[in-house]
Parts: sequence; C-alpha cells; structure tokens
Amino acid sequence: MIQITMPLNFLGTVYREIRQALVDMGEMFDLLGQPAEITDKPGAPDLKVSGGEVLLDDVRFGYEPARPILKGVTIRVGPGETVAIVGPSGSGKSTIGRLLFRFYDVTGGAVRIDGQDVRDIGQDSLHAQIGVVPQDTVLFNDTILYNIAYGRPDAAREELIAAAKAAKIHDFIMSLPEGYETKVGERGLKLSGGEKQRVGIARTLLKNPPILLLDEATSALDTQTERDIQDSLRAMAEGRTVITIAHRLSTIADSDRIVVLEKGEVVEEGRHEALLAHKGRYAAMWARQSAEEEDEGERIPRPTVP
Ligand code: ADP
Ligand code: MG
Repeated sequence: MIQITMPLNFLGTVYREIRQALVDMGEMFDLLGQPAEITDKPGAPDLKVSGGEVLLDDVRFGYEPARPILKGVTIRVGPGETVAIVGPSGSGKSTIGRLLFRFYDVTGGAVRIDGQDVRDIGQDSLHAQIGVVPQDTVLFNDTILYNIAYGRPDAAREELIAAAKAAKIHDFIMSLPEGYETKVGERGLKLSGGEKQRVGIARTLLKNPPILLLDEATSALDTQTERDIQDSLRAMAEGRTVITIAHRLSTIADSDRIVVLEKGEVVEEGRHEALLAHKGRYAAMWARQSAEEEDEGERIPRPTVP
C-alpha cells in the first residue's frame, strides 16, 4: 500500500465532498427520474431567490414528442405557500418536480422561480435552493452527526442540534448509547423507516433551502409513523415555499391549496373544504381513501383508552 502522510486531512475532505455530491445526485435521480442532457447557457447567472415564488406558466411537456404528458399546466405557488399536487398515478405529478429541477426542458410555457426562467440560470444554484426529502433517506455508515451534518457540513453543532430537535429526532438520538456519535447505516445501528426519514428531514432543515419539494415523502411509511413525522414536516414547511406531491390525502388536507392533476391537466384547485363541497374529483378521491383507512383501522387493533 502506498503511504500518504501529508495530505490525509485534505483527501478526507475531498472524499467526503465527492461522496456527498454523488449521494445528493443519487437521491435526486432516484426520486425524480433520469436527467436528460441539459446544459447551462454560457455565463448563466445564479438563481436569486427573494420570496421563493414558483410558477409553472402554461407548461407543456412530453418525454417523447408523440406523447404529451403535461398539456398546459399553470400552477402558482406563492412565497411561503404550501401547495399539494394530487391525482391518479401517471397523471404527471413527479414530472412537475423534474421540470422544477430542470432535469428536462419544457416544450411550451415556462417554469419560473421569482420571475427567473429555470432555463436562464445556473443549474447548481437552482439545485442548491431546492430541498428534497426522498422517500427513502440514504444513511452513510458513519455517525448520526455526520449523517445530519451532510445537509450543510460547515454548520455549527448548535445549528445541527436545533435541526434535529425541529425534526423530532433529537430525543431519540440522545437515548442512543453514544448519542450523536452513534454509528448508523448498514454496518451500524439500523434505524426504522420513520427514524431515517426524520434524519432526512433534519438534514434538509440544516441545508435550509427556501423551496422544498416533497414527492410522496411519507408514502413508504405506515400510517402511524407517517402521522408521527407530520409535525416534523410542518416544522420544515414553516417560512418556506413547499410543493407536496401527495398520495395519501389525509397528510395534505391542511395545505394552503390543493391542485388536482389528471392526464396532464389541472382539473380542480382550491382548499380542502372547498374541494369537498365541490363534490368533484377530489371529493371522490377523499371518500375512497377515507373508506380505505377505516378498513385499515379495523384490521389494526387500536390501543384501548381506559
Ligand atoms: P405521477 O407522478 O403522477 O404518477 P409521472 O409524472 O411519474 O406520474 O409520469 C407521468 C407519465 O409520464 C406516465 O405515463 C409515465 O409513464 C411517463 N413517464 C415518466 N417518466 C418517463 C420517462 N423517463 N420516459 C418516458 N415516459 C415517462
Ligand atoms: Mg410520482
């Protein structure tokens, strides 16, 4: 083996950075699909986020020209707003996320963030401003501290602990034999789905992006765990622009606005109560899912209250 004496620290840093970049991209591609060949315009400026308004302006898109997927979709998410996109599988929800990240270019209309067309800005700056909580958070074989810090490696320990507290994972960490120094991952302590998810949320809170995209972030979890992390997700949404792509309607009922997508078109839009009163697509989806959850409730015995 070659002996390297001097630049060990430096190499360690570079290695961590490379590994981090790879996993960042890996998580995103997992979540959002395969990227196409998208390049920056020469001298493209960085995205400047002021309020964090996201606007899909009459967006048209298809993976293949012959098969349009989004057929003129307009969705405005105001600064600090939480908007949920719901709809049947295959309606184009995840595609919207991919276009927001500019993994593909629209074929008509535009995606704008605070008025800047995503085609006109540097992609690195675009990706830096959008946080994603993946369905399945990847943990490194390293300490829990490292696993959270990777959201922003230069963060102070107090900031990191604040993020863990907001993600409702701090108390759990403190109960571990070595606290924040406990090794987790495949070769360390195995965390449950909900615990991993909360580490992912803490990581994203530490990264502190003004815009968040949650693509069915909790769909891999059972109903109880999902309920448990809703508080953490709410804490994360505070003061940010949030787009939630949802499967389970119970988790998005309190969104500022709900957009119902069907076959690449917005067919309904409004608040939960208004959509229920409208007795349209959303109301039907809600009725169906409520019935399913009641079935679940009958099968899983609830703890008895004395
Ligand atoms: P949703 O998230 O609402 O379930 P998606 O946005 O993932 O739907 O997909 C919308 C449509 O686009 C589906 O018919 C899907 O098969 C198609 N699609 C998704 N990704 C690709 C791709 N990379 N290449 C071709 N078609 C795709
Ligand atoms: Mg999807």
